[in-house]
Amino acid sequence: MYEYDLFVIGAGSGGVRASRMAASYGAKVAIAEEYRIGGTCVIRGCVPKKFLVYASHFAHEIAVIAPSYGWNIGEISLDWPKLRNNIEAEVSRLSAIYSRNLNNSGVAIFEERAEIAGPHLVRLASGREICAKYILVASGGAPFIPSDIEGAELAITSNEIFHLENLPKSIVINGGGFIAVEFAFLLKGLGVDVTLVYRGDTVLRGFDDDIRIDVHNELKRKHIRVITHATIKKISKLEDTLEISLANGEKLHTGQIMMALGRNPLTTGLGLEKAAVETAQNGAIKVDKYSKTNIDSIYAVGDVTNRVNLTPVAIREGAAFASTVFNNTPIAMDHTNIASAVFSDPPVGTVGLSEHDAREMFGEIDIYKTRFRPMRLAFSDDETRVMMKLVVRAADQIVVGVHIVGPDAPEIIQAVGIAVKHGLTKQQFDETCAVHPTMAEELVTLKDKFVFKESLP
Ligand code: NDP
Repeated sequence: MYEYDLFVIGAGSGGVRASRMAASYGAKVAIAEEYRIGGTCVIRGCVPKKFLVYASHFAHEIAVIAPSYGWNIGEISLDWPKLRNNIEAEVSRLSAIYSRNLNNSGVAIFEERAEIAGPHLVRLASGREICAKYILVASGGAPFIPSDIEGAELAITSNEIFHLENLPKSIVINGGGFIAVEFAFLLKGLGVDVTLVYRGDTVLRGFDDDIRIDVHNELKRKHIRVITHATIKKISKLEDTLEISLANGEKLHTGQIMMALGRNPLTTGLGLEKAAVETAQNGAIKVDKYSKTNIDSIYAVGDVTNRVNLTPVAIREGAAFASTVFNNTPIAMDHTNIASAVFSDPPVGTVGLSEHDAREMFGEIDIYKTRFRPMRLAFSDDETRVMMKLVVRAADQIVVGVHIVGPDAPEIIQAVGIAVKHGLTKQQFDETCAVHPTMAEELVTLKDKFVFKESLP
């Protein structure tokens, strides 16, 4: 009766993992992708962004750090087309690997748009209709552009930034979240004059305050102009520049403007109403803990459900779905204590509760924290500091949050995440012998409780 056991809409991280796992359990699976196999992370997100982050570090390393170790290095310059083309080649290589893996798993690939036409029915852009026992929506998200900014069509988003013909001399970035902060640092590192326009007072809302303070200060220390309590009203094209009019009357002139104001679940035109699938006000598909929608045959994973919008989460949600539906082993994705990183400079690594949230949840908590100059910078005048912080529940001494700003913080937090996920105590951290000399050894040698409460700048 059904042509496929599973039809997946969207070949990003969540959709691809779900397809391959379902196929490995014996299901007959098809997947549709309207753009490029790999989705946001591989094509225009985490992967190309990380390459730009790497690229952005060289100038400072060569101009400031290397000479402090005695290296004499001459003039350097960035060949942007070469960098951009190398990244594109790698993205294409990875996308091809994703396709090959799907093929090798026996998953049929439709490289065209698919929409839901009923609880078991999918309609492809070519007009073909396919009946499937289950449908999985993994269509991801797309940058949000507010409708009240005049001339917003002149702005780019993180989708376009990887394909620029030339790097602009200057850019205004609107926003203060993951993408705005990461691109502010990396573009500055690539030599672009960056201005960040943010509606709040301190970037990275939702993160621990110490992370927010340090990253915010670091933006300014890196000579990124940060305009807070500001919103953009209008963007106009002048002869050879863009004019950005802020609501407070100030005007900025820049070569490029990028919007990084969050991402919306990609559900418009998906035909969800044809199967009466419920969505939240922002378009996110509502799902239960097994990623099932209100319709028994339709599931959804990843950014389109707007739970925790991170690649490894979508992957795990996809795997949990496949196990639940096709392997007779229900798995509910656990969204607690997910470690994450912000690739600022220095980067952020964080897992568990912020100090603020832990206080609200548990009342009494102990804070251990340190700020220090990394050994590597000892010879230079680079004033970058490392911040490490443990949030400990006073009643049982369980470490409920770890927050790091400093070189390699994302690598460190991956390992610390295991300890926090499994509820280890401060004493168990302390019983772990340090690795010396490292930055991370501070995490197992913090002795004194922190008493002074700082406020946001
Ligand atoms: P975020 O939700 O992180 O940040 C959105 C920013 O835009 C916030 O600073 C917000 O302000 C501001 N904002 C929202 N609406 C408006 C508005 N109408 N006017 C002015 N400012 C506004 O979204 P991003 O776009 O930065 O990133 C999207 C998602 O992608 C992230 O949430 C994350 O899940 C994922 N991501 C993860 C990365 C990683 O893991 N390293 C890297 C990049 C993206 P306010 O703070 O006041 O709400």
